[in-house]
Amino acid sequence: MGLFWDRQTIYQIYMNISVKNKIFINYHKKIKLNTDPFKISVQSFILALAKFKISVSSGRYKILAVTKVDRVENDRKLNRMRIENIYKTLPSPSRFYVEGDNAYVEIAERKIPIGGVMPKLKKGESHLHYTTSLCPVCMRLLPARIFERDGKVYIRKICPEHGEFEELYYGDSKLYTHMMSFEETGKGPGKIKAYVGLSAPCPFNCGFCPMHENHTALANLVVTNRCNLSCYYCFFYAERAGYIYEPSIELLRYQVRQLKKQGVTMAIQITGGEPTLRNDLPDIIKMLREEGVKHIQLNTAGVKFAELYFKDPEEAISYSKTLREAGVNTVYMSFDGVSPKANIKNHWEIPYIFEVFRKSGMTSVVLVPVLIKNMNLHEVGKILKFAAKNLDIVRGVNFQPVSLTGQLKKSEREQMRVTIADAIKAIEEQTDGQIPRETWAPIPYAAKFAKFIEAVTGTEQFCMSNHPMCGAANYVYVEKAPDGTPIRFIPIGSFFDIKGFAEYLDRERINIMDSRAKKLHLLKGIIDLRKFIYKEKMPKGLKFSKLLTSIILKRSYDALGQLHYNMLFIGMMHFMDMYNYDVERVRRCNISYLMPDGRVVPFCAFNVMESIYRDYVQKKYKKADINVSGLKGFNPGEKYDRSKYLPKILKDPLYREAYKGFI
Ligand code: SF4
Ligand code: SF4
Repeated sequence: MGLFWDRQTIYQIYMNISVKNKIFINYHKKIKLNTDPFKISVQSFILALAKFKISVSSGRYKILAVTKVDRVENDRKLNRMRIENIYKTLPSPSRFYVEGDNAYVEIAERKIPIGGVMPKLKKGESHLHYTTSLCPVCMRLLPARIFERDGKVYIRKICPEHGEFEELYYGDSKLYTHMMSFEETGKGPGKIKAYVGLSAPCPFNCGFCPMHENHTALANLVVTNRCNLSCYYCFFYAERAGYIYEPSIELLRYQVRQLKKQGVTMAIQITGGEPTLRNDLPDIIKMLREEGVKHIQLNTAGVKFAELYFKDPEEAISYSKTLREAGVNTVYMSFDGVSPKANIKNHWEIPYIFEVFRKSGMTSVVLVPVLIKNMNLHEVGKILKFAAKNLDIVRGVNFQPVSLTGQLKKSEREQMRVTIADAIKAIEEQTDGQIPRETWAPIPYAAKFAKFIEAVTGTEQFCMSNHPMCGAANYVYVEKAPDGTPIRFIPIGSFFDIKGFAEYLDRERINIMDSRAKKLHLLKGIIDLRKFIYKEKMPKGLKFSKLLTSIILKRSYDALGQLHYNMLFIGMMHFMDMYNYDVERVRRCNISYLMPDGRVVPFCAFNVMESIYRDYVQKKYKKADINVSGLKGFNPGEKYDRSKYLPKILKDPLYREAYKGFI
């Protein structure tokens, strides 16, 4: 007899039973497992329990049986994911142990307690989901409840030591239901299956460990922690850290080779600090190409390009050309708003950065606004209009609702907190309803597409099966006047039935698996595609069905690229913080950080639990302490001084033209 279990659940059984049996029962009795289930035999399960020193009566586990399992797919996964075949390469970062009635994880020279009670619902609240979260004070792993109240979604947890924490989780319960309806399961960390063995509950075992439910889609490679700005809200740059972290090219190469082991298409974001402070940046980019990285993204505030331009425009253009020719595909650039108040980082420099990019052929820029409620949420509409105005070089806008760091009072958090739902609603309002909320879809929408193609071709596809609460996306066509001025946005969801098409992909995928004539299904899919397009609502000149057909048929990145050049991509990703932390999300994360010790760690573990991941490891690999002077090339004081250029900027027609109609 076989049973279906979820890997995380097995581990949480371990965690909760070891701590308090009662919590386990409360925690799991109503769970509907919607994560990627896999099958293990009763024998393997008993072995797992034996490993964890748990003795149980079998009856209790009936409550954990997964009710909805796609058997065919599951059996295929079974071959790849047998618990006994876990691939181990590096030592686990943590150790789980029990002391008396309490359980702990030992990690990064810290002892972190595990477990607590499940919070109850209060009057007027309705339950949505159980998960696990963290105490914002001591990082204790806690059971948590996600619930609805007055049309919004909240998360609540209770730390035995630091009390109850309640946080806004999603700003609109209807949108929450809409996004969760696109749920899709993941496939684990690619060929490598795991970088470290299983030694502690998630998220104290990164990574990737065998519990991880996704492979890397975009890997961040930190090339320096030096920065030429000192933004008041940033804790990451060298002076604040107290040391300089700047790995050699060979160490960076090792990190990339670790990523390569997953066997998926490699996309890397070069990040910092400010990567352009490294003089050998072109060599780093070349090394990435040598290692077979397909997509290279440069994360920058762009100030270096403007500073060079102020000194000598030709030098700035030549620098940008050098980076592009070395292999940069996309510039991922901070842009927090159109006004100087909202965008303290690079408002004044943006016109010059754009000028440099235009003249150097750097035509794939993604603007990245970090959204803070009382700072720039009121500018989301203008940000999109600004992107539309610069559509010749701007491919997309990726909004990032703020991730709150440090100890903040509830009232302070409420002043700043923005969720994806709030941003989507603000965009709808500030574009006069041109981009309605129902035209958005979460990231796993892409996984449905990938699994359909995989079913037809039998070859593994890149699969973005993130948690639906992590991100959302939209594509909008920008309608322009004859003189090129943007007039309005037309989102794909207004002329394409995104929900109907997702349901169709789910249905057909199952049919294809049972069918021998797989290619015929592909043909049928292409014919059926037209049923989901409302031709009369489609913008003139957009060959949407042709583009979609070539994406499906050729699975072509060029075709996808073509879509990008016709339209504006609007993405959102809400990186978590200790207040709204949902372990189910990080376990399905596909945005990774490559660590110098060879591990690959999910973004929301690396940056949110920074004391045990980012800072702990980077300090070990530091190049120099900040008070060591005279180290050539490691001067943290290379700060940009705007005041030198501001009087000239204010009078410059280039600056004025860039923001005409915006400020
Ligand atoms: S986040 Fe992923 S890699 Fe980290 S402990 Fe959880 S499952 Fe393992
Ligand atoms: S980085 Fe954070 S928000 Fe993004 S996919 Fe990973 S867990 Fe989700």
